[in-house]
Amino acid sequence: MTDIKMKCLQVGYLPTNCYILVGKESREALVVDPGTKVGEANRVIHAIDELGANVKFIVNTHGHPDHTSGNRAIKEHTGAKILIHANDAPLLIEPWRGAEESEAFIKPHRCPVCGREEIVKLDVDADKVRTISGCGVVILEAELSPPADRTLRDKDWIKFGGIELEVLHTPGHTRGGISLYYEKEHLVFSGDTLLEGSWGRIDLAGSSEEEMINSLRRLGKLPGQTVVYPGHGRQTTINKEKKVNPYM
Ligand SMILES: [Zn+2]
Ligand SMILES: [Zn+2]
Repeated sequence: MTDIKMKCLQVGYLPTNCYILVGKESREALVVDPGTKVGEANRVIHAIDELGANVKFIVNTHGHPDHTSGNRAIKEHTGAKILIHANDAPLLIEPWRGAEESEAFIKPHRCPVCGREEIVKLDVDADKVRTISGCGVVILEAELSPPADRTLRDKDWIKFGGIELEVLHTPGHTRGGISLYYEKEHLVFSGDTLLEGSWGRIDLAGSSEEEMINSLRRLGKLPGQTVVYPGHGRQTTINKEKKVNPYM
């Protein structure tokens, strides 16, 4: 990468890839998906300070709390604006919206600790949301985000530090999932749409298999050498994924 200095931190319970992108000359920066555990946002803030970055934007690839939980702390520290697709903006305030009617919460899931098949529960209070396994283990605990400062749509541009990222609306995991494409250096941040050798869950509120297939097909049309930085797991390339992903 010539224009951007990038740092990836793995944060939160799952864990989630949080990317800090800094324009090399201006030091203007953008943070993708700071899905930190409660109290962990300091790790991201420390990295921002170490890079000497001036964070203009926090961009959430979608509205799930494992991608948005650090929004508040980082916004308070940097004054950055929070950007998310219009369809997922309501999830910043109410990430549980529709969740309890989704397959993920109706069907039993294997508890990561005791291994039993149990129904996952949601617990919401004024500033936090938790998902709890049937046997009572906290699977995820997240702080709620402030509302969006700007909502995004397909083919919008996000400009910082001389860099222009294109917003690609890639729904399927959620209604407002986006990928961020930097054509000049063949990079794409794919959130929970395209993952290495896989793709994001489609059993959640707002998920759609049909939309996921269309989004994967769309990403499959990007140049083969494009490096994919997903929301979880390791980086990959469009060419590699086309070999293993039946929808691409
Ligand atoms: Zn997600
Ligand atoms: Zn995720």
